[in-house]
Amino acid sequence: MKKLTGIPASPGIAIEKAFLYLEDDFLDIPRYSIQKNQVESEWERFRTANREATEEVKDLHEHALREVSKEQAAIFQSHLMMLEDMDFQDQIKEHLGNSLQNIEWVFWDISRELSQRLTASPDAQFRERAADISDVSRRVMHRLLSVKKFSLADLSSDVILVSHDLLPSDVLAMNKERVKAIVMDAGGRTSHTAILARAFAIPAVLGLSTITKEIDEGDNLVVNGTSGEVLINPDAQILRQYQGAIDQYRKRFDEFLELRELPAETKDGYRACLKANIEIPEEADHVARYGAEGIGLYRSEFLFLTPKQAIAEEEQYRAYSHVLKAMAGQPVTIRTLDSGGDKLLPNFQAADEKNPLLGWRAIRFSLSRPELFKTQLRALLRSSINGNLRIMFPMISGIEELEQALSMLEEAKAECRQKNQAYSDHIEVGIMIEVPAAAMTADILAERSDFFSIGTNDLIQYSLAVDRGNERVNYLAQPSHPAVLRFLKKIIQSAHEKGIRAAMCGELAGDPSATALLLGLGLDEFSMTAQSIPQVKRIIRGVSMENCRILADNALQCTSYYHVTVLVEAWMTEYFPNDYEIRSR
Ligand code: PEP
Ligand code: MG
Repeated sequence: MKKLTGIPASPGIAIEKAFLYLEDDFLDIPRYSIQKNQVESEWERFRTANREATEEVKDLHEHALREVSKEQAAIFQSHLMMLEDMDFQDQIKEHLGNSLQNIEWVFWDISRELSQRLTASPDAQFRERAADISDVSRRVMHRLLSVKKFSLADLSSDVILVSHDLLPSDVLAMNKERVKAIVMDAGGRTSHTAILARAFAIPAVLGLSTITKEIDEGDNLVVNGTSGEVLINPDAQILRQYQGAIDQYRKRFDEFLELRELPAETKDGYRACLKANIEIPEEADHVARYGAEGIGLYRSEFLFLTPKQAIAEEEQYRAYSHVLKAMAGQPVTIRTLDSGGDKLLPNFQAADEKNPLLGWRAIRFSLSRPELFKTQLRALLRSSINGNLRIMFPMISGIEELEQALSMLEEAKAECRQKNQAYSDHIEVGIMIEVPAAAMTADILAERSDFFSIGTNDLIQYSLAVDRGNERVNYLAQPSHPAVLRFLKKIIQSAHEKGIRAAMCGELAGDPSATALLLGLGLDEFSMTAQSIPQVKRIIRGVSMENCRILADNALQCTSYYHVTVLVEAWMTEYFPNDYEIRSR
């Protein structure tokens, strides 16, 4: 038996066989020599692959014209031009004849060389073309290798999914009934794959670095998403122990659920508000089961992430209305499109940015695509008559951006009025505070916001300069870093001074070991994966606000994250002596 330890990203234990799912970059391109008399047949293979790829892109082009936008159609049009470019084809034919290597290798070699040359160009237009070249060549290469990209939606038996780095869109598309756990080389606790795994209650261990090399298809695995351990081919006795642990885990979870009807109130009467984060509309149907008092964050971009998905106003309207109706009058905070980074919109954004996390993301993307943004705003406005809607803008970094977003909202309202489309008069509009600049100017932003929601996943990433999906630097992503605590204090204080509420919807809000500290800092609302609500509520009901304030004051005096961690752990041990699970997160 072998044991590996990674980042515990989604709690729970699973025992199943491994299924290896390796992404495109891991495709093995074969390389072998051919005879002169094979050149013609190799060339014919290329022509067939190129023809099939062309047909596919023609379909995508027509689809984009019908259902997406002229801009997107233009991108596919340029892909068609590349596929039909005779100079490029001549180059491949010549290289094939000269090198006498198989066509996959020749084609890969030429496309890679071209793409590298374009990537290095100082001209942004050429750099953009590099991503198009990669896209087009991948399509042709799949045909050459006869790779029918296996769809995770087609999984037909129970498995533990082993991958280098799944995309959020892979998780959305996979057959969730069959995936009993996820393990990955890459990723961290706040990567979007982790967030989705928690949303679907699938145990996950990420950041294992080399797991794809250690595991063979069909190996027996035990995945403990609570401790971060992965056991490869354990013996029968260990398997029995873990089976017992699974039963124990379920029992404990059912006990937590009994708290559902009780208020999230401290011993001295301070009432906090606990809400759920959701990624797909149907999740809203189940959050009441865990005692959610509303939706604190609906990540609307997940609607847009599945390729070919139509994102028309009507479809959005239906999705938002579904959530609002399911919550029956409880507040529902819908965040406008937060694409970019690891959430690229397949129909709009190419994976060619040098620094995607600092690039064309979130509100920046929406403001630069007014048509797309206003379509979403109109869908939101129209849905508002179905419940208690709050609109939230992601990644605001300064007042100008907020004002632009607000004025587009006014334009969208005018467009609705023109079409006699009703919307509620009482929609609160707030912002995410997840960029250090927004935290530092929270007092200014509070003047134009109805509420704040702190996005600690990005706030930690940006303030500590730690890529949240990079397993190598994940140890630095410390929520208890003094810089983060000072930001939190400043944000909450600025909100309260301007008379607005401060919520948190980053993963920290659902971490029971941080609950007392966050209460002490004055946080009004906690929004998290619904399954975490009972545990957080249990902490709130077991503490007094007076003690939490003392804890927060002491934590703010600490000079390092280590000291804060020791302080908070000692505090938790004093108040929750039997709760190993909470202290060991
Ligand atoms: C955050 O950054 O904390 C957040 C909630 O947004 P996301 O995780 O979707 O980036
Ligand atoms: Mg964020």
